[in-house]
Amino acid sequence: MIAAEPIVLESYLAGKWVRGDGEGAALVDPATGETVARASSDGLDLAGALRYAREIGGPALRRLSFAERAELLGKIADVLAARKDEWHEIARRNSGNTPADAAIDVDGAIGTLKYFAKTGAALGSASFLADGGPQRLARDANFQGLHIGVPIDGVAIHINAYNFPSWGLWEKAAVALLAGVPVVAKPATATAWLAVAMTRAVTDAGILPDGALSIIAGSAGDLLLFVKFGDALAFTGSSETGETIREHPHVRGENIRVNVEADSLNASLLGPDAAPGTPVFDLFVREVVREMTTKAGQKCTAIRRALVPAAFADAVVAAISSALDAAPEVAPVVSPSSRDAVEAGIRALQEAATLVYRRRHGADEKAAYVAPALFRADGDVPVVHDAEIFGPVATVVTYRDPAEAYALARRGGGSLVASVFSADPAFLAASAAALGASHGRVLLVDPSIGESHTGHGIVLPSCLHGGPGRAGNGEELGGLRGLWFYHQRTAVQGPAPVLAELASRAVEIAR
Ligand code: NAP
Repeated sequence: MIAAEPIVLESYLAGKWVRGDGEGAALVDPATGETVARASSDGLDLAGALRYAREIGGPALRRLSFAERAELLGKIADVLAARKDEWHEIARRNSGNTPADAAIDVDGAIGTLKYFAKTGAALGSASFLADGGPQRLARDANFQGLHIGVPIDGVAIHINAYNFPSWGLWEKAAVALLAGVPVVAKPATATAWLAVAMTRAVTDAGILPDGALSIIAGSAGDLLLFVKFGDALAFTGSSETGETIREHPHVRGENIRVNVEADSLNASLLGPDAAPGTPVFDLFVREVVREMTTKAGQKCTAIRRALVPAAFADAVVAAISSALDAAPEVAPVVSPSSRDAVEAGIRALQEAATLVYRRRHGADEKAAYVAPALFRADGDVPVVHDAEIFGPVATVVTYRDPAEAYALARRGGGSLVASVFSADPAFLAASAAALGASHGRVLLVDPSIGESHTGHGIVLPSCLHGGPGRAGNGEELGGLRGLWFYHQRTAVQGPAPVLAELASRAVEIAR
């Protein structure tokens, strides 16, 4: 049972639950504006927390094999799965999630933990990685080289965005913990309740070694002043904050590795063959509507730009509009200030493109609802490709030929994902090759997978997540490839029998 009074979130640092000074920031229910929790990190010993993780958590994790660490992930998944209803309720109250929205965040996190529990178990008793096998280096066949990956000896600092408080925490933590690297997580304050509550369930269950997992409730404060060479920082959020973090003098000074997952103006492309009335046209319309409405469009992977042949544009606009009319409940965005930012973005788009649809809703100043909005732009209208409006907003952009469609997709400046809808296999394959350089993932949909594909916006643990350019130039997940971020690659040179022995204790993982 969840209390009606605002709860005070504590941080878990150096193996203890601790409360920050002062009243802290308010976390609201975006459907009502009511304060549901408070969080402050003021006065907390963040330097001590990082030190404890490095000195106590890291060595304890690295004494275990991959399979033993994978077993811990399985136990975390079980503990979280047993209290799913509670997590859904927090997701409703603190993120305004519909049940379907909460499932992506909560069930997606548990599924990701289970995925790494299973694939990690298959790595057996090894505790480090190999990139290929031993190779002869000189005339003397006994002198060989082997590339291995050893876990970094610092701490993984995970700074996450507000839109996925559960999935964001666990998709990153699962990989770091499996790699043998302790985690200090910093969820976005606005929706930190769920991440903190889940972490408490895991610490209460006593699954992980001491110091392996910590969480900061409230702002990052001076956390970045205490990072050290050997740490790894993985950030998810806006490109502006990503830039601040990357450029932070201490982060630069200590030369720590940084992965940035930032914002993205993703595109979905309707093929020239996919005329109105064809099954693939309907699949495209359904996907655009799903991406606009799921989590009220607050997904870094959401379709912002629907690229369509000019001749089909009227039919596409009509079909999306009527599907939006029929769409179920759309959740509020995360906060009234976020709503105001989305409305400002809609006004800016209105100056450049044509508003072709706006769903009506009752205005309530305290609630953070935004009525879905669809725009149309013909050709290259800059604001459409430059401004990420983080809400239920998309633009139908017309193209003349595939070359223009690919150029428009690239105008996002580097994106997390593009999808292509066509029944023409040659066009689908050509599109993947054309879009690959500017996208981290490309989803190709023809009618044969119309009902079975997982969706444009859904990130799978087995596939790479991240994107070039504006999307942050980051890479996460990708199955066990993700382990490499937490390992240092080292070229070991020496006598063949020694390298053979080393190789026999490592597990080979594609990079
Ligand atoms: P944000 O404002 O950039 O904040 C992200 C995180 O950074 C929060 O935890 C925030 O903490 C923290 N932060 C802010 N300033 C910081 C600083 N100077 N030093 C250290 N940490 C700092 O982003 P958001 O509003 O939470 O999330 C929305 C954005 O995230 C969208 O642009 C979306 O596209 C992007 N996103 C990208 C992905 C991806 O995988 N590529 C996934 C989800 C979201 P506080 O909350 O305490 O300020």
